[in-house]
Amino acid sequence: RIGYIRGEFVPLTKASIPVMDRGFLFGDGVYEVTAVIEGRLVDDAAHLARLERSLKEIGIVNPHTASQWTRLEEEIVRRNKLTNGLIYLQVTRGVAERAFKYKDGLVPTVVVFPQFSPVQYNPLTKTGARIITVPDLRWARCDIKSTSLLAQVLAKHAASQAEVSEAWMMRDDVITEGASSTAYIVTQHGDLVTRALSHETLPGITRQTLLRIAQDLKLRIVERPFTRQEVLDAREVFYTSASTIAIPVVEMDGVPVGGTKPGPVFEALYATYMQEVMQLTPV
Ligand code: PMP
Repeated sequence: RIGYIRGEFVPLTKASIPVMDRGFLFGDGVYEVTAVIEGRLVDDAAHLARLERSLKEIGIVNPHTASQWTRLEEEIVRRNKLTNGLIYLQVTRGVAERAFKYKDGLVPTVVVFPQFSPVQYNPLTKTGARIITVPDLRWARCDIKSTSLLAQVLAKHAASQAEVSEAWMMRDDVITEGASSTAYIVTQHGDLVTRALSHETLPGITRQTLLRIAQDLKLRIVERPFTRQEVLDAREVFYTSASTIAIPVVEMDGVPVGGTKPGPVFEALYATYMQEVMQLTPV
């Protein structure tokens, strides 16, 4: 795999980062994950806009313009012959002697690399996924896509131990979001429910596109928190992320939810999403 590491395209096995990088020492950085489907960069402009926002919130000057970022991503696609997978990019505050306080003007460390992953060929799209719920142990600014991900690492490990695909995080009995996804239910009244944006969740880019599609399809969208009990009572349950686009949920904490197969609302949203992706121009 060829990555773009601190200004150079290099094989990832040959790449290295200084020990004094603040990303390594403090998790002082932010990241993005963008899907590549049949050679197309999915929701690229929106991911780069969120990157800009994350950087601004933690006081790092964006080292590239959106078009420079896109050119880097396209180069990663070409050099790796990446047809289906993910582009990971990360910006940390840079390299400095270890101290919590930082000086302005450090040179941010930029890393871009591909990941080969099934995205739309994920079998869970058809079979549905099993999930567990875990406590949401994160800090108070979950809207920043920070590389400090210990709570999510623990949540995903718990999911892995339980042999399920995702962990939905809860504060009290309210679902905040998945460890790496946005959570939705369709109620028995047919309302599509997901949380409104706040500091408690990441503003999902897939969520943004999916809700626009839901609006186009004239679905009733209700942005509000929902409880674990409401998931048990829902007609459909699913989650979204760039790395999966959308996955239906058929079991939570060992209990069947949302029917035994993908529901009609999920199917309509997913099919439309994919149709739109295929209308993009390949790299
Ligand atoms: N919430 C969290 C905590 C995530 O890590 C992710 C995946 N990056 C998402 C939601 C989904 O966001 P997106 O649709 O932009 O991938």
